[in-house]
Amino acid sequence: MKAIVFHEHGGPEVLRYEDAPEPEIGPSEVLIKVRASGCNYNDIWARQGLPGMRFDLPHISGSDAAGKVVQVGDAVKTVKAGQKVVVHPPISCRQCEACTSGHEYFCRFFKIWGFQTGPLDGGHAEYARIPEANAVPMPENLSFEEAASIPLVLLTAWHMLVGRAQIKAGEDVLIWGAGSGVGSVGIQVAKLFGARVIAVAGSDKKLEKAKELGADEVINHSTQDVVAEVRKLTNKKGVEVVFEHVGQATWERSVASLSWGGRLVICGNTTGFEAKTDLRFLFNKQLSLLGSHQGNKAELLRALKFVEAGRIKPVIDRVLPLREAAQAQQLMEGRAQFGKIVLVP
Ligand SMILES: [Zn+2]
Repeated sequence: MKAIVFHEHGGPEVLRYEDAPEPEIGPSEVLIKVRASGCNYNDIWARQGLPGMRFDLPHISGSDAAGKVVQVGDAVKTVKAGQKVVVHPPISCRQCEACTSGHEYFCRFFKIWGFQTGPLDGGHAEYARIPEANAVPMPENLSFEEAASIPLVLLTAWHMLVGRAQIKAGEDVLIWGAGSGVGSVGIQVAKLFGARVIAVAGSDKKLEKAKELGADEVINHSTQDVVAEVRKLTNKKGVEVVFEHVGQATWERSVASLSWGGRLVICGNTTGFEAKTDLRFLFNKQLSLLGSHQGNKAELLRALKFVEAGRIKPVIDRVLPLREAAQAQQLMEGRAQFGKIVLVP
């Protein structure tokens, strides 16, 4: 089969479109013919390599995929050949105390498919193998491309806002990186729960699109002072919830934008992981700093109901042929996209 493979870490040039062996499934696994796969920032981290993390090489990235099941293992009971599925990206044992209490992300066998799996085990390929439990019925109203764009960012945004920050109707929510995959879904999840959304991005064009997704207010961080604008928009109160995934470059402004008793929820740090926090604000204002990582399968299934009902929409920047994966990563590194980039074999 054709796949996007890297044999060593490095820049986009290490990505090769080449022949790789078709995956062989175990008794509890299913084989999918991939019709579309979504690009995520973790594709870039894996390709570059991360300090302290080991990646099995050669590596196929791709944590989001949609396609048709072509083969199921002998022990598989809930998935049938011919079924359209999307991949639930986090893999865990599903038997331990963490897994059975709905905290799969605390499982000692927890891995993000296509990021920490391998060698040669992700979605940017013609075929992919996943555990039965990770094959989720594809929403009927979506194309393969739309379906492949949604699970990882939807699960991440849902767990951040619903699971961790416990968002409530009427609250003000600041969403950084409105043009990113997770930001574009974050806006929609916050609106679904009746929040007032203040979206931040670096261009007016992106902010226009954020408004189309439901953002009530927008701030252009390249021309405006985000903290001052938040104060103005909230009558000096600040926002109850900040949705963070940018990290070092935005952290101090995020903390400064919070209301008394505000919650900051963070799922990533695309600009770096060293940030300063003024502890006086933390205790005086009784702030909550909440980490968030992935989510559980029940959260994904619940969130997908709103996708199926048309209340959360996939946001696709563009669809590219699988062989153009390097171009997709360059667009993401340059923050040139709005929403997700999808690859089609
Ligand atoms: Zn487990």
